[in-house]
Amino acid sequence: MRILVTNDDGIHAPGLTVLEEIARQFSDDVWVVAPAEEQSGAGHSLTLNHPVRLRKHGERRFSVSGTPTDAVTMGLKKVLPSAPDLVLSGVNRGANLGDDITYSGTVSAAMEGALAGIRSIALSQVYAKDAMGDAVPFAAAREWGPRVLEPLLALPHRTRGLININFPPIAPDQVKGIRAVRQGFHDYARGSVVEGRDPRGFRYYWFGLHGIEHTPGHATDLEAIEDGYVSVTPLQLDLTCEKELRALEERFPR
Ligand code: MN
Repeated sequence: MRILVTNDDGIHAPGLTVLEEIARQFSDDVWVVAPAEEQSGAGHSLTLNHPVRLRKHGERRFSVSGTPTDAVTMGLKKVLPSAPDLVLSGVNRGANLGDDITYSGTVSAAMEGALAGIRSIALSQVYAKDAMGDAVPFAAAREWGPRVLEPLLALPHRTRGLININFPPIAPDQVKGIRAVRQGFHDYARGSVVEGRDPRGFRYYWFGLHGIEHTPGHATDLEAIEDGYVSVTPLQLDLTCEKELRALEERFPR
């Protein structure tokens, strides 16, 4: 099994090493193609207005000066000798739950794999609000990653679909299990905009991730994490709302 490992936190992120280790438990044919710099919040953006550079860091290990989508595209079209059987993205530093996944470079990298017809899975480690920066404990992801991937990989591949996995911010032996759940949603418009002045006196604005309120709805990814479970959510590239499509078809009959 050939595996492409990528992320949105960049080639030097600790979570990428965690995911490489997890991938090697399933295969010796593991390739890493990741963004050169952190790309959290890049969503599914593709670099169109300037060239990207590919840099080799080692045997089967490369960085791309672009977005997660750029990295997967380069992996599939320029780096790997043939298509991988699996794209793994992560392990992200921080949650990718509910509505936030629309911003997620981690989930978008898996979307790009799914667009290419490859089984693709995004993995994220939720961390406690008082944890700062790099001090994210990946222990739950490290231990539960293989336990959740193994049964998923035994299932038939659903084309144009991907899987979003989040690990709760608790010690591995406190994790209660794995739950298959739907994507949750946030109650309010997101986060904070911090305002300040730079060293030369010019005003700046900086988007923050704090202060996002949500009610963990029943059987959602948010609730599963709150309850101490690993969340597994199947996603699809087709964003069509079937319910409203039927209503609109009635409104605009053929
Ligand atoms: Mn990230």
